[in-house]
Amino acid sequence: MRRPTVEWQVAGACNYNCSYCIQSPKHRVGQPSREAVDRLLAFLSSLPGQWEVKMSGGEPFAFPLFLSRIVPGLVGETPHTVSVLTNLSTPLPALERFAEATRGRLGIVSASLHLEFTTAAAFLEKAVRLREWIGPFPSFVVNSVLVPGRLDEVLRARDAVEAAGLPFFPQVMKTKGGIFDYPEEDRPLLERLLGAGGDPRRENRAPSYFGRLCRAGLEYFVLTQSGDVFSCRTAKRFGEGFLGNALEGSVHLADEPRPCPYTICPCTVPANRGMVEGIGADARVAPAVLAGRPA
Ligand code: SF4
Ligand code: SF4
Repeated sequence: MRRPTVEWQVAGACNYNCSYCIQSPKHRVGQPSREAVDRLLAFLSSLPGQWEVKMSGGEPFAFPLFLSRIVPGLVGETPHTVSVLTNLSTPLPALERFAEATRGRLGIVSASLHLEFTTAAAFLEKAVRLREWIGPFPSFVVNSVLVPGRLDEVLRARDAVEAAGLPFFPQVMKTKGGIFDYPEEDRPLLERLLGAGGDPRRENRAPSYFGRLCRAGLEYFVLTQSGDVFSCRTAKRFGEGFLGNALEGSVHLADEPRPCPYTICPCTVPANRGMVEGIGADARVAPAVLAGRPA
């Protein structure tokens, strides 16, 4: 069965400033008011059935209302599953509160390791504790961007993450136009990190589903901190696929699948959850689903 999913950018602000962040600093700002959060929660509670609410930012934990209002609101006022994409920079007591508040309702924690702002050891200290606190059922994955020229660091981090018993997913660096074209000298380490070939273009990490029927806008959408709803991330990037504003009560989800009009799909969630015609049809959640974008 397909799992409907909303990607909620709970706040734009981030406490990191990674050189490879796909969000430009001028867009990586802002936090909604308490009143706006209340209304966004009411909108999410009005969705039919049980959805997975996959929260990202910016950095969700850097937004004070994330732990004090959003998490308890989703658990107490909606039937939805809670997932989060975080850089794990928040202190351990906050992570413990999160684990307690989401018990029985947590889907996936995707923890992004940003070696420009932390070390693998400091990150793993938190990751291992959080893994224990959330228990065995929710998924916990670690991802890290394959930063050009720094792949040796990523390789050492991968080994440390796997030695700690956690799954590690390397992320090919993305650009606005697709994926980064790595220089020749990075190829040997790319091969060790990505497997045979090591060619990110052949790995097809940003495929095209042009013309295939897609349920984005119907069973999947992107919700921004200002309440705007877009059918998918690619559509949002092109200033298209606007489905209304949740704060204004004007959201109308699509009523049927539509052919994908784009030649690149970095969205990952629709493809991995069986929402794109002929792709991922068994709709099982690939562990890398949340690793589609750096946190
Ligand atoms: S296939 Fe990807 S890019 Fe195309 S409409 Fe669906 S989610 Fe958007
Ligand atoms: S990549 Fe993630 S952690 Fe780094 S600046 Fe961007 S949003 Fe923040």
